[in-house]
Amino acid sequence: MVEQPRHDGGWVSTLEDITDWSAAQARITYMAHHDALTDLANRTQLVSKLEEALAALPSQRTSVAVHFIDIDRFKKVNDTLGHDVGDFLLKTIAQRLRGETRAGDTVARLGGDEFVVVQTEVGGKDKAEEFARRLVSAVTAPMKLNDQILVATISVGVALAPEDGTNPERILKCADLALYKAKVDGRNCIRFFLPEMDAELQARTKLEKTIREAVLHGRFELHYQPLFEMTERRLIGFEALVRLPAEDGTLIPPLEFIPLAEELRLIDKIGGWVLREACRVAATWPAEMTVAVNLSPAQFLTGSVSDVVADALKTTGLAPHRLELEITETLLLGDSKATMDELRKLKAMGVAIVMDDFGTGYSSLSYLWKFPFDKIKIDRSFMQGFDGSGRDAETVVKTIIALGRELKMRVTVEGVETAQQAKFLDNADGDQAQGFFFGRPIPASEISASILADFQKTHAAPPSVPGGNMPRIKSLAKR
Ligand code: C2E
Ligand code: MG
Ligand code: MG
Repeated sequence: MVEQPRHDGGWVSTLEDITDWSAAQARITYMAHHDALTDLANRTQLVSKLEEALAALPSQRTSVAVHFIDIDRFKKVNDTLGHDVGDFLLKTIAQRLRGETRAGDTVARLGGDEFVVVQTEVGGKDKAEEFARRLVSAVTAPMKLNDQILVATISVGVALAPEDGTNPERILKCADLALYKAKVDGRNCIRFFLPEMDAELQARTKLEKTIREAVLHGRFELHYQPLFEMTERRLIGFEALVRLPAEDGTLIPPLEFIPLAEELRLIDKIGGWVLREACRVAATWPAEMTVAVNLSPAQFLTGSVSDVVADALKTTGLAPHRLELEITETLLLGDSKATMDELRKLKAMGVAIVMDDFGTGYSSLSYLWKFPFDKIKIDRSFMQGFDGSGRDAETVVKTIIALGRELKMRVTVEGVETAQQAKFLDNADGDQAQGFFFGRPIPASEISASILADFQKTHAAPPSVPGGNMPRIKSLAKR
């Protein structure tokens, strides 16, 4: 009410109807705390409800459980069945989750397909698990939309307060980590937070930082493992193997960081560098020596590998026939035409294509007639199974070598560690061998010495004219 004095001494009072205004105000406040699609609490509301529940804990003998829920492959539903179906699914799941909770519990949607249920007054981990199972069976019951039947599955990560933490951020993070584990374990399951998940995440975060910095500052290193031709046991080339220097000066092996680099979509950059660097170093070796470079399937997804290879050859001047590209059968699993086209282009350039780790996959054999590989490398696990008995592993190795002969593909045996294994290979008709027995991976700076040593071994009488018959090793420019 507004009152104004009049000049004749009276008053004018104005009354304003504010029902509309306060309704709008209430609506705005509501919207600020709720998710528009499902009407569930949003993140802001979730955090304040969780704060309340956690604050009440010291006066109670019970726990609070946070259930972090993610709909399995929701993006696919959205992409293939459309957004209307996606929205229907989200709303139905929201309703079903709410149907399972009691007063005092909170159900929230964090956007996308992520939901959080805060379960209060929990009598222990068993009770939380029982409840999580109830949530799962409620959500996974079939839904009907027009004449379609939809079934959704969910992954659930659970954390308990005060056991796992006592502030909202921490407890949500723990539940999220448990959810991550549920997804890694194949989805459609419930996982509880465990302290080691923290350590795993920290290690992963640290490795991620090391990878990113190494990419930024060009800190990767290449080591080179010799490959020997079997008949004369002559050094014929090297395989380039990437290493990531850690903070403490040690080198992180590729199997530890490449999967993460692939996930971070940094493998293209790393792989491009490996190619250029390996070609640059190999261009300084005697002209008949080859260099092998491993390619990750992820490098075929984004761009044109053949362009990157062509560029590396051009800038370093390495002849294409001296470069071997090693791929594994995972690359061919997708049976993609684009991948095959790239491989054919590379082969047409004169580069050799090698099937690495042969014999470890599900269907290595079937790939052998899908692409004319120049060489197959028998996985080192076969040599590890070698016990000199002449059975099993030996038979398999000999058979693969014979198969390679028939298909006109050269065969390299990997992982040769002992003199006994090397002797067996002398009679097995393989073309090449690689392994600790012949030489471990070494830094580029030690290659010249290794090439010279081999030359002196295979040429019993050293040439009298300096440089006359010696391998030409151009000076390896310091990196
Ligand atoms: P790979 O291509 O099969 O390389 C051979 C691996 O076997 C190397 O491990 C090598 O050190 C190891 N090895 C060689 N001889 C022996 C032996 O006699 N006994 C045993 N036990 N092991 C032996 P490394 O360097 O740790 O590389 C592991 C894998 O990482 C490679 O397997 C390759 O798949 C991948 N990798 C290495 N460098 C690169 C790269 O630049 N790019 C990509 N995408 N992958 C790479
Ligand atoms: Mg390899
Ligand atoms: Mg291999």
